[in-house]
Amino acid sequence: FEHLKVTDPEIYASMKRELERQQRNIELIASENIVSVAVMETMGSHLTNKYAEGYSGRRYYGGCEHIDEIETLAIDRLLEIFGGEHANVQPHSGANANLAVYFAMLKPGDKVMGMNLSQGGHLTHGSPVNISGKYFDFTEYGVGEDGRIDYDEVRRIALEVKPKMIVAGASAYPREIDFKKFREVADEVGAYLMVDMAHIAGLVAAGLHQNPVEVADFVTTTTHKTLRGPRGGVIICKEKYAKAIDKAVFPGIQGGPLEHIIASKAVCFKEALQPEYKAYQTQVVKNAKKLAEELLKRDFKLVGGGTDNHLLLLDFTNKNITGKEAEKLLDEAYITVNKNAIPNDPHGANVTSGIRIGTPAVTTRGMVEEDMTTIAEAIDLCLTHKDQDKARELVIGLTKKYPLYEEYNLMD
Ligand code: PLP
Repeated sequence: FEHLKVTDPEIYASMKRELERQQRNIELIASENIVSVAVMETMGSHLTNKYAEGYSGRRYYGGCEHIDEIETLAIDRLLEIFGGEHANVQPHSGANANLAVYFAMLKPGDKVMGMNLSQGGHLTHGSPVNISGKYFDFTEYGVGEDGRIDYDEVRRIALEVKPKMIVAGASAYPREIDFKKFREVADEVGAYLMVDMAHIAGLVAAGLHQNPVEVADFVTTTTHKTLRGPRGGVIICKEKYAKAIDKAVFPGIQGGPLEHIIASKAVCFKEALQPEYKAYQTQVVKNAKKLAEELLKRDFKLVGGGTDNHLLLLDFTNKNITGKEAEKLLDEAYITVNKNAIPNDPHGANVTSGIRIGTPAVTTRGMVEEDMTTIAEAIDLCLTHKDQDKARELVIGLTKKYPLYEEYNLMD
């Protein structure tokens, strides 16, 4: 960054402080991860200079022959990982990938079903504050008393509503999702099935979760969560929808693709095809299970009673604390989490009665089961005993043991 340092010392200084924060803190936000230097190098490259509206072999700009190579590689690798017939790697984000599917297949006012935001769904699955909820007629489904998706209720609502599309997938759901059951319901009512696998894509890539590509008409994902790539989105669909999806992404909702990001996605996909990747994702799941076990031992309640994937949802209804307070107390001990509503939360979305915790980033740093015991202990010290100083000491021990990006001298 020696050029940036001279051109823009203010941005350089903030970036340096952010790197130090990432190195100092234990990152437990379930939707975050730590990318490889190769993934970062591609993002910060000359590929940002190129306009390439259109698709490989049919661009609206000249000079796209190398961009075509890059985008084709990204598509081929994505399909090699997940299977599927057609892929679009241009969505700038997960939200855009979802919007493109809606724009391709729905008309304003069409009926759709999605998971309720406060029960684990995502804003783009029909929340009234999102374009999805404003332009389409969403009916929400959620979880039962046991914190698991109530598939009978999903079927009952579908039979009543007769939606044109059912959206499956979640942002805060710790259990495996049965996509085959969603397919059966969709078939029974003649609906399209769209799966947003953003949170679990890395687990699916490693064969540790049911693969929605086998059953869904459309699968969307972000590339920056468990998958461990640059910030962005992709869509995989059946060949019969390929034209509609491509048209919806461009020129439907986006202009020129971010080819530096698409190249970086391709690098991430190559990494996901290596044997070490499966070992990494396996450890992500093992760590989440161990963390759940250790937190339960310390009298924390978990939504759904535990986890099958990379995340846990702590339920503070047995503790005298809100999600908002917990987020702040943990931050004082260098532990980063996000407050998260629990099903039927008495405190609402801004305060909440829970936090969401995920293991993708700490596992990338190299942490294993015994470190999860230390993390659980630090969380307990912060939230139950309000002993931030002792918790911070445990965190410093872990971050020293598992340094981040130190050998690369990134900001020097
Ligand atoms: N879908 C799900 C399930 C998510 O959890 C998220 C992000 O949190 C998104 C979509 C949106 O992704 P992005 O932030 O890239 O728009």
